This record gives sequence, structure tokens and C-alpha cells, in this order.
Amino acid sequence: MPKYDKGWVNAMEAGKKNSILIVDDDNTNIKVLTHILGGDYDILSASNGISAMGKAREYKPDLILLDILMPGMNGYETLVEMKKNDVIQKIPVIFITGLNSDEDEEKGLSLEAVDYITKPFSAKIVKLRVRNQIQIINQLHTIKDLSMLDQLTKLPNRRCFDERLRIEWKQAIVEKTPLSLIMLDLDKFKKLNDTYGHQQGDAALKTIAGIFPHAFRRPGDIAARWGGEEFVILLPNTPLADALETAEKVRTDIEDADIPRSGDLTPIKSTVSIGVNSLIPEMDSSIDMFISKTDKALYKAKEAGGNCIMQMKDIQTE
Ligand code: GH3
Ligand code: MG
Ligand code: MG
Repeated sequence: MPKYDKGWVNAMEAGKKNSILIVDDDNTNIKVLTHILGGDYDILSASNGISAMGKAREYKPDLILLDILMPGMNGYETLVEMKKNDVIQKIPVIFITGLNSDEDEEKGLSLEAVDYITKPFSAKIVKLRVRNQIQIINQLHTIKDLSMLDQLTKLPNRRCFDERLRIEWKQAIVEKTPLSLIMLDLDKFKKLNDTYGHQQGDAALKTIAGIFPHAFRRPGDIAARWGGEEFVILLPNTPLADALETAEKVRTDIEDADIPRSGDLTPIKSTVSIGVNSLIPEMDSSIDMFISKTDKALYKAKEAGGNCIMQMKDIQTE
């Protein structure tokens, strides 16, 4: 599997503990909660709203336990600020507070806290309420992972790729760095299916998907299944010359690869046509145009007989 950078495939690797950020101005409360929860979760702490925002952005905990009465920004205000921040707005927050009137609780829940626990609390009830939220969070993570993954090749799927492309596109605009896109389409794949069977076609797709990571230079490079027998590779902060080198490595690796067959049967060979495109996007650049130009380059490679690479850096809008 390709190595994705942090945040790409979420923290669901086996054995990894969920993490909780405890925010309280009273260190004794932090110690008590850490004692209750520290055995089951990785604990982070912060003593005020500003520091909580910083730690949430940096560590992206799975859950935040937030006190309300704190000097400076109180818990309500902290939650309002968190909801404005793209990176942390989806992290669920449980208020854990001495404010125990119905009005206080109603205010907390109306700000979209997922739960409201009043002090003094029972350790067992805190544990159970936290566990219930963590279960929901983990189920959501699993659903998100599944919805982002191509089941056959285990590569990110098109939905995942689109999401990532939008993130990298924005980043490239801000940092004025080149973004490169490689589109690949298997040559005469229908014939391979017709000759050897659909299952063998599936084996070819899996073999090819396994080749991409070997051609990558950086952890941020991303391959995805675009659909059918088409794949895409996104190379952030990569100029055209480097993208062409990666494309050539992918092309030759696929050309050289043996697609295994059951028993002693001779392995099958396959090739790909490749389109490459690169640009430093600006505010008024169009992602759709970027993709369609790359697709045109791919089409040219197909027209040229396949198993080759075309670039379409200079193609004009038609
Ligand atoms: P070209 O060289 O022009 O790209 O021709 P091609 O045969 O590769 O392209 P075409 O679009 O005619 O056929 C693509 C084939 O890919 C048809 C479809 O059945 C097959 N295909 C798409 N998805 C899968 C899949 O998941 N598994 C298998 N085995 N075949 C698939
Ligand atoms: Mg095709
Ligand atoms: Mg094809």
C-alpha cells in the first residue's frame, strides 16, 4: 500500500488507541480524568481555550472533554471558535462542567456538544459516556474509510481522490508550487478480459495497483482508481519533468510486470497509455480543465498506439 501522509487514511490502524483532549483550568480535574480514562485512551491536556485550539489543530484528537468555566475564553466560546475552524470543527466535544442548570446544559447542547456531564461526576458514568462517543466516532471512521476505498485494488477511489485533489489544489495556489497529474488507462483491456476471463482482468488491475507506490518519490504522492481500468496519480509540489520521470517508471514497471495466473500457466503482460499534465494553479484556474487536459494527453497516447506517455502542458482551451 502507498504510504499516505497524516490525515489521509484516518487513525484506524490496528492497535492504535483513540485520543482524547482534556481541557480544564484546574489541574486536579485533568489528573482525575486522566486517571479515569488514561488506561483506555491516549490523553492530551490543555488548561485554557486558546491552548486547546492549538492542541486540537496539531494532534486532531478523536474527542475533546471541555470545561466551561475557565479564565479568558470560556468553554462555550472555545466551542464556537472550534466550529469555525475547518480542521477541528468535526471533532466531537463533551462539556464536563460545574454548571448544572438546565439552561447551561441546553446552551451547551445547542452549540453542538455531543454530550454534557456535570461535576461532581461518577467515574464509571464518565467512562461509559466517553466509550459511547468513541464507539460512534470509530464507526464513522470505518464508514468513511470504506467509502473512500476501492474494494478490488484497495487503492483510494475516485471520491477520495477528488477530495484530495481539492485540498492539494488549494495548497498549491497558496504556496505557488506545481501540481502534477498522471492519468493512465490500460491498453486493450477488454481483449484481456475476453481472452482470459474477468477474474484474470481483476488480477491485472490488482497487480498494476500494487506497482504505483514503487514509482513514488514522496509520501504525499497519491494513486487512486479513477474507475474501470483507469488510474490517476497526483504528485503535489512536483514539476512536469519529475512527473514525466515518475510516469515513465510506472509505464516500464507495468510493461515488465507479470500478471500471475493460477497453476503453471504463463503470466500475462499488460501495458498502459499515460497522459501527464502539470501547472502552478492560480485563483482563477479550473480543476476540471486541469483534468480534461490531462485526459486529452492520455487520449493522444492512446491514438499513438498505447504503451506511451503524452504531455499536454501547452494544449489550448477549445
Ligand atoms: P483501449 O486500449 O482503447 O483503452 O481499449 P480497452 O479495451 O482497454 O478499453 P475499453 O473501454 O473498450 O474497455 C475497458 C474494459 O474494462 C471493459 C470493461 O469490461 C473492463 N473493466 C472495467 N472495470 C473492470 C473491472 O473491475 N474488472 C475487470 N475484469 N474488467 C473491468
Ligand atoms: Mg478506458
Ligand atoms: Mg483501456
